[in-house]
Amino acid sequence: MASNLHVVIVGAGIAGLMTAALLEKANISYQVLEKAKEIKPLGSTMSIGPQVLTIFEQLGLYPEVLAVTKPAGQINFKREDLSPIGTFYTRSPGLDIRGRYGAESRSISRPDLINLLLTFIPAGKIQYNKQVLSTKQDGNKVVIQCSDNSLHVGSILVGADGAYSSVRQNIYQELEHAGTLPKTDATPMSCDFDCLVGVTSPLDSSLFPVCNDQFSDFEIILSDDALYSWWFMPIANNRELISKVALEDKVFNSWYSGRTVLIGDACHKMLPFGGQGANMAILSALELVNLLYDIDEDSQEEISQVFEKYYEARHSAGVAAGVLADVSRYVFLHWIPNWVIQLGTDKMNEYRKQISFLPYVEVKGTFRSKANKPSRRL
Ligand SMILES: Cc1cc2nc3c(=O)[nH]c(=O)nc-3n(C[C@H](O)[C@H](O)[C@H](O)COP(=O)(O)OP(=O)(O)OC[C@H]3O[C@@H](n4cnc5c(N)ncnc54)[C@H](O)[C@@H]3O)c2cc1C
Repeated sequence: MASNLHVVIVGAGIAGLMTAALLEKANISYQVLEKAKEIKPLGSTMSIGPQVLTIFEQLGLYPEVLAVTKPAGQINFKREDLSPIGTFYTRSPGLDIRGRYGAESRSISRPDLINLLLTFIPAGKIQYNKQVLSTKQDGNKVVIQCSDNSLHVGSILVGADGAYSSVRQNIYQELEHAGTLPKTDATPMSCDFDCLVGVTSPLDSSLFPVCNDQFSDFEIILSDDALYSWWFMPIANNRELISKVALEDKVFNSWYSGRTVLIGDACHKMLPFGGQGANMAILSALELVNLLYDIDEDSQEEISQVFEKYYEARHSAGVAAGVLADVSRYVFLHWIPNWVIQLGTDKMNEYRKQISFLPYVEVKGTFRSKANKPSRRL
């Protein structure tokens, strides 16, 4: 790996923290700039799939993940009086997800996922109260300016600053100036809904027996006249918090320019219906750090090659996940045969990429996923 490489990550959400955790493991120099004055434990539940679980197993955190998660179950649609409308079987007796892919997806609260990632990152490597305002880059370096007038220099800038990414806005200005920004990237994200998310305090399981269920089944309550739906699911460790999230979606086409690259919601904002946002962020971080581990020098030429390969590997996955989220909205309510669901889950598990510079773990299940090669440095 290039010994003078220094990566500046903007944003301490799941994309930024996963990138930082992997750079820490790869022994590559980095720092994280976060605009908030601390990491706030906001958000509700997310589902992490077998591919992401393999990465946590490689990182030696599998028992910790199991302790704070429940296997994601089926999705039950109900009327307001709780009478059933239908069920979308995403586990046995519908599909044997564990037997086929080695593990079920698992439901985890956003705060628990953030806390797991923080265990890898030395405290001093995340700087808070650092709102990035502008970025400038040339063939040798990128300079980042924050609202407190501090300047930060890196050989690579990773924009992990979410849906309204200021890093994205900065590089899009550059691309527009150069006449290379596609028209689709110049239009704003669509925003159809607002969503309130939260996690309850621990509930009394004698009053709420659903808490004892082995699986985290999703319950979706629909009404004929209300303009909203209720979604809830039991998870392992409960806390009480509500936050508001706008449900936008857009997969951008320009993900990098010069020494700057985007990751997570900064380049692909998903609707939550397909449960893909956090998975996409984690798998993109894996791809990027695997590629960075193998470069010899931090020349613009090598960095451009890394970004191109990263884009090739992840952009189509972003488009597919966006389609899944959209389609899920409409097909959930209709009966679809198990073999069709299995086609979709097979596609999602086509690759089981691992951290190329750590020992590989055995992938269980009868389905044969494609793997990536270990780093050429090993
Ligand atoms: C508060 C919150 C709650 C959420 N709750 C849910 C949920 O319940 N379920 C679900 O499926 N998804 C939820 N999401 C979305 C989900 O976390 C993301 O889709 C996914 O994890 C990808 O994360 P990300 O790191 O790319 O972006 P984000 O999670 O949005 O993280 C971006 C980070 O960048 C920081 N940042 C932004 N601008 C700047 C700047 N200019 N300078 C420095 N730092 C900056 C932000 O403070 C934030 O920490 C939530 C997101 C947030 C922010």
